[in-house]
Amino acid sequence: LHSSAMRLAEGAVIGLPRALLFFELYPFWRAFFNGLGLVCAVSAPTSPETIEIGAREADDGTCLPVKTFYGHAASLRDRVDAIFLPRLVSLTRGTYTCPKMLGIPDMIRHNLERMPRILVTCVDATRGTGLVESSVALGRSLGRSAAHARTAARAGLEALRVFRDGLEQNLSFSQAIVEQFPREISRLCRETGNDASVGPGRRLRARVGLVGHAYNLFDPGVNLDLVRKLAKLGCDLRTSEHLSLVEVEAESSLLPKAIFWSGGRRVLAAVSLFRRQRLVDGIIHVVSFGCGPDSMVGEIAEREIRRSSSLPYLALTIDEHAAEAGLVTRLEAFTDMLERRRAGVGSA
Ligand code: SF4
Repeated sequence: LHSSAMRLAEGAVIGLPRALLFFELYPFWRAFFNGLGLVCAVSAPTSPETIEIGAREADDGTCLPVKTFYGHAASLRDRVDAIFLPRLVSLTRGTYTCPKMLGIPDMIRHNLERMPRILVTCVDATRGTGLVESSVALGRSLGRSAAHARTAARAGLEALRVFRDGLEQNLSFSQAIVEQFPREISRLCRETGNDASVGPGRRLRARVGLVGHAYNLFDPGVNLDLVRKLAKLGCDLRTSEHLSLVEVEAESSLLPKAIFWSGGRRVLAAVSLFRRQRLVDGIIHVVSFGCGPDSMVGEIAEREIRRSSSLPYLALTIDEHAAEAGLVTRLEAFTDMLERRRAGVGSA
């Protein structure tokens, strides 16, 4: 379950790669490690260099988010006492992440050289080892008492609750983080750069539902600053991350078959909610090239939309070769079309 079960002294620095489920669980890990007396160092925002290093070090067959994870892990190796690579199997009972995410600790350990001590804990809620249980066990392996580790895990849960509440109120990732870590995190949030709304003085042209993995929606270095581009074009956004868990489960129960990938389940629930409640004028699905779950979920989402509405749907596939110019052209064309439909010109 844990690698390097050895005490870590107070003040030791733990590296957190800013990739994959960092965008869902950062508040939890941050509050948890701080509660154990440890300091968190988050890797710098994704840059072309992060992606280049990741693409060089990772297996050719991996998706861009995993390659990006490699780049972030590599950037931390000389700066921290230990790097944290959780094995995330299942975050809620009955749902699963994906095989690549599950294998991340092993892939990094075997493919990246000169890594510092690696901390691993296995989160598998389906088998009864959720976030709290797995982190208490990790805290114990680092030399903390059970009571101390439990208190730190509870602080983590509370931080996660505040963060999720923020997202459900339609805050962006960075706004939701600022809510609870106002001082130290301000730099992280400015760097994340994903706050975007049409803003004062700009004309609203369309309401867009942006769906996909949090790490594709909230990382401007991976998605070519998609959120800001859409805001500049006059689009107001609702994302799949703004749904509560209750909404995800309620919408999933309306589908012919619930999907067991947690990321895919949230995407399909968002598509269903946005369509049924007419919350958006069109949907953009951000898909990772080479991702099996994304291609299947995309297919189901598109069919679901076509079967019951005329809502425009755009699948944007991203990989390390995605080009800025092509993306802008597609977004402009999509927004123009949504705007014409809102005005009642040429609507289907
Ligand atoms: S779900 Fe898809 S995009 Fe995410 S890590 Fe797995 S393969 Fe990559």
